[in-house]
Amino acid sequence: MKITLLDGQVKSYDEPRKVLDIAGDIATSLKKKCVGALINGKEVVPSEAMINRDCKLELITERHELFSRVVNYTAKLVTCLALERVFPEGEVVPYEDNLDTDEFFAFFDYEKGLKFDDLKEVELEANKIIKESLEFNFNTTSLEGYVEEMKKTGSSEEFINWTLDLNEKSYIKLAIGVLGGVPFLARYATLAKTSDLFKIEFTQLTGVSVENGDVQKSIYKIHGLTAISEKDFKELVEKIEEIKASDHKNIAKNLEIYHLDPLIGQGLPIWLPNGAVLKQEIKKYLMEKEFEYDFIQIETPVIGTSDLYKTSGHWEHYRDDMFAPMFLPKEEMVLKPMSCPHHISVYNFKPRSYKDLPLRFAEHALQHRYESSGSLTGLERVRAMELTDSHIFVRPDQVKEEFKRCFNLIQEVLATFDIKVDYLSLSLRDPKDKEKYFDDDKMWNNAESELEDVLKEMDLEYKKMPGEAAFYGPKLDIQAKTSIGHEITVSTIQLDFLLPQKFDLKYIGPKGENERPIMIHRGLVGTYERFVSVLLEQTKGVLPLWCAPKQVQIIPVNIVANSDYAEQVRVELRKNLIRSEIDKRDERLSYKIREAQVRKVPYQLVLGENEQKNGTVTYRTYGSEEQITVSLQEFIDKLREKIDRKVYG
Ligand SMILES: [Zn+2]
Repeated sequence: MKITLLDGQVKSYDEPRKVLDIAGDIATSLKKKCVGALINGKEVVPSEAMINRDCKLELITERHELFSRVVNYTAKLVTCLALERVFPEGEVVPYEDNLDTDEFFAFFDYEKGLKFDDLKEVELEANKIIKESLEFNFNTTSLEGYVEEMKKTGSSEEFINWTLDLNEKSYIKLAIGVLGGVPFLARYATLAKTSDLFKIEFTQLTGVSVENGDVQKSIYKIHGLTAISEKDFKELVEKIEEIKASDHKNIAKNLEIYHLDPLIGQGLPIWLPNGAVLKQEIKKYLMEKEFEYDFIQIETPVIGTSDLYKTSGHWEHYRDDMFAPMFLPKEEMVLKPMSCPHHISVYNFKPRSYKDLPLRFAEHALQHRYESSGSLTGLERVRAMELTDSHIFVRPDQVKEEFKRCFNLIQEVLATFDIKVDYLSLSLRDPKDKEKYFDDDKMWNNAESELEDVLKEMDLEYKKMPGEAAFYGPKLDIQAKTSIGHEITVSTIQLDFLLPQKFDLKYIGPKGENERPIMIHRGLVGTYERFVSVLLEQTKGVLPLWCAPKQVQIIPVNIVANSDYAEQVRVELRKNLIRSEIDKRDERLSYKIREAQVRKVPYQLVLGENEQKNGTVTYRTYGSEEQITVSLQEFIDKLREKIDRKVYG
C-alpha cells in the first residue's frame, strides 16, 4: 500500500495502518497534534481510521483549514450524546453532516415536540460531558456491534439501515465510534477527548424536512457554537453577530421588504410595499438599459405544455427542478421553469432573414422551480422567481460581438449597484456525465472553445468550472458571495447550439438558403429575488437613494402645529416623484430621528416653526449628524439630480 503525503513523499506499508501511526512515522510531535486526515482531497477520516489502500493523505492539525470543522463535528457528537441522555425517547439523526466553519448542527427526531427552551438542559448536559473528558473511542465495536447497540436503544430497523447505507457510501469503512458508551457513525474526524472543547452554546432551533426511504419527515436542527479556547469562542460569537447583521433575511425584516406565509406556500415570497417599490425601481432601470442596448420586450405565459419541455430537453435533463404536471382534459401543463422555449416560439412565429439578426428578446419573466424545502433560504433560494431573462438569436459570425455587448451591459448594470463580483466562472460540461448533458461532443467542443476565445479576446480573468454548464451549453457565470459565504450566480451569459437544433430554427441566408441561428441566453441580474438578497447584504440595507423604498422621512417637530406644512412638503415631493413618509407618531423627536436611521432612510427632514415660516426644510442624510437648512425647492432639485444620476445617498 502506498500513501502519498502532501509534500509528494511516499510511504509504503505491507499492512493497513492507522492515520495516527502514519503521523507518528513522519514525526513524533505530529502524532500528538493529528486529529484526522483528508483522503484524496475528498474525505475526512478520524485519526484512528485504518487506511487500507493506496491514497493521497493530508494530516489535519490545528493549522489545517479543516480543523474548525473537526472541532464542530466533535461538538455535534457531544450534543448528540447529551440529547440521548436528556431525551432518551428521541432519536439522534445522522443527517448529512453539513459542516459549516462557524456553526455546528445536530439533528434530532422527537415526537413529543421540542422548543428552544427545552435545549437549556441539553446544553448543560453537553457542557458537563465536556468536563467529563470522555475519549472518542473508535475500535471497540464492529458494524455488527453497532447494529446490536442501536437495537438496544430502540432504533427502528429502517433507521439502522439508513445509517448503514450512509456509512456504505464512505471511502473508508471503519467509521464506528463510541462516546460515553453510545455508538455513533464517525463520518468525520474528532478531537481526542470531549474536554478538548472549551464550551458549547446553542443558538437556534429550526426544522428540516428529510427523506427516509419514501417518507418525508420533519426533524429538528439544533444550531450551536463551539471553540477550543475562550479566546476563540469570543471571536466566533463576534463574527456570528456580524454575519447576522449582514444577513439579508434580517435586513429585509427590518426594512419590511418581503414576507413568507406558510398558508401561501413554502418558498413563495410576497413583496411587501417597500419590497415592491425596490423591485419596480430596479425593473424600470433595467428595462431602460435594455432599451438602450436594443432589446425587445416580450411577455409569455407562466405555464407551458409538457410537450414543449419535452422538445426543449428540459423534461429529460431538468425535470427534478420542475413542479409536477397538471392534467387538463386535452393537455398536460407544467409551470415554466425557464422561458427559453417560449421565446423560441416568438422567434418562430414568422420567417426571419439574416438581416433581422441579432434579435434580442427580453422578458422579466415569472418562473417556478421545485427546490427542496430544506434548501429554501429567504429570497436567495425560492420556488417562484422573476428572472431578468433574455434570448438573443444570432448568426454564427455575430456570436463574439454579441457576447461582448451582453457582458458590457451586465458590467454597466452591476457597477450602478456597486455589486462586488467575486469571480467569473467559465462553466463547462463534465464530458463523462452523459445524463446531465446533451450528448454531442462536437457541438460542445465548438461552443466551449468559442466561449473561451471571447473571454480571451476580452482579456478577462476567469475560473474554469467543469460540470457547471447548463444541459444545452457552456456559460459565463458572474459570481458573488453572500454574508454567510454562499456563492451565488448574479448574472449569466450562455451559448446554445442545441435548442435551435431541437426546435429546427432557421433564418434565410443571403443566398436564399436556410441557415441555423445560435442562441444566447442572458440573465441580466439573475432573478429579482436573488439580486435583492445580494444587494441587501452588500449594502447592509443602506440602499442607493434612487431605489430606496422611502427616500425621505418627514419628521414634524410638533405633530399638531407642523402637520399641515409636513403634508404640503410631502405633496411637493410626490409631484417631483420623490417617495416620502410623515412620521405622525406621538414620540420624541430624537426617537423618531433614531428610528429613521434604523430604517436606513437616506434623508430625514425635520420641520418646525422656522421651516414652516420660511418655506424651508432642515435635512440630514443617513449616517450623518450634520443638519442643513435649505429652501424646499433647493432640496427637491438636489434630490432629483442625485436620483436621476443614480448616485448613492
Ligand atoms: Zn434560456
